[in-house]
Amino acid sequence: MELNCVQTRLVAIEQEIQAACERSGRKREEITIVAVTKEVSVERTEEVLDAGLVHLGENRPEGFNRKHSAIEREAVWHFIGNLQSRKVRDLIQEVDYVHSIDRLSLVKEIQKRAEQPVRCFVQVNVSGEESKSGIAPEELESFINDVQAYDKIQVVGLMTMAPFIEDMDKVRSYFRKLAMLRDEIAAQQRPYAPCTELSMGMSNDYTVAIEEGATFIRIGTALVGKESEGAG
Ligand SMILES: *Cc1c(COP(=O)(O)O)cnc(C)c1O
Repeated sequence: MELNCVQTRLVAIEQEIQAACERSGRKREEITIVAVTKEVSVERTEEVLDAGLVHLGENRPEGFNRKHSAIEREAVWHFIGNLQSRKVRDLIQEVDYVHSIDRLSLVKEIQKRAEQPVRCFVQVNVSGEESKSGIAPEELESFINDVQAYDKIQVVGLMTMAPFIEDMDKVRSYFRKLAMLRDEIAAQQRPYAPCTELSMGMSNDYTVAIEEGATFIRIGTALVGKESEGAG
């Protein structure tokens, strides 16, 4: 098969992932790439699948539904963006993972609308930036407690977005903090919240995230580029 541009980029990304695994003594199989296709067309998204990736991430309900109905091939669908409660009904039956559980009202809406338990990440605002959504670290445990009452929510792990800063030591400290919080919840062995996964790392910081234990990295521009037109 001819190499498409996604495939070419994927080769480079795979090398970076491999190197990060070697630096941190991890296995490549522990890490899943979620290809974030929110800024590109259906055609570019098909190239992602041609390249052999199966996990796709979208951050808007409209984009999610458009891609999901246009793409008939097998894929694992991740919703990674801020999710308004009134939009839950439109996509919850189609979604395999929600990365952005950040409030109880959203949990309640998912409970009401989902027919099956939904694999969820609780989003944590580790950096404390006001512009970021997510549960504050000190409120995480009580939030996880509250989720217990809703059997359509399966807490598979924690998710965070690092701030866009140059200081990778700082970024690393946020990822490390998320890993620590994950370990604390996982150690409690709650049946509804195994919390074994860590969704962290994007185009600019995924190697650092892998070194700090990421199991799902969400890569957009570095993998699929950006399309000025025809996006969505
Ligand atoms: C857009 C987005 C990504 C991917 O960002 P890139 O910098 O393009 O890799 C990852 N996670 C979330 C939540 C996003 O919204």
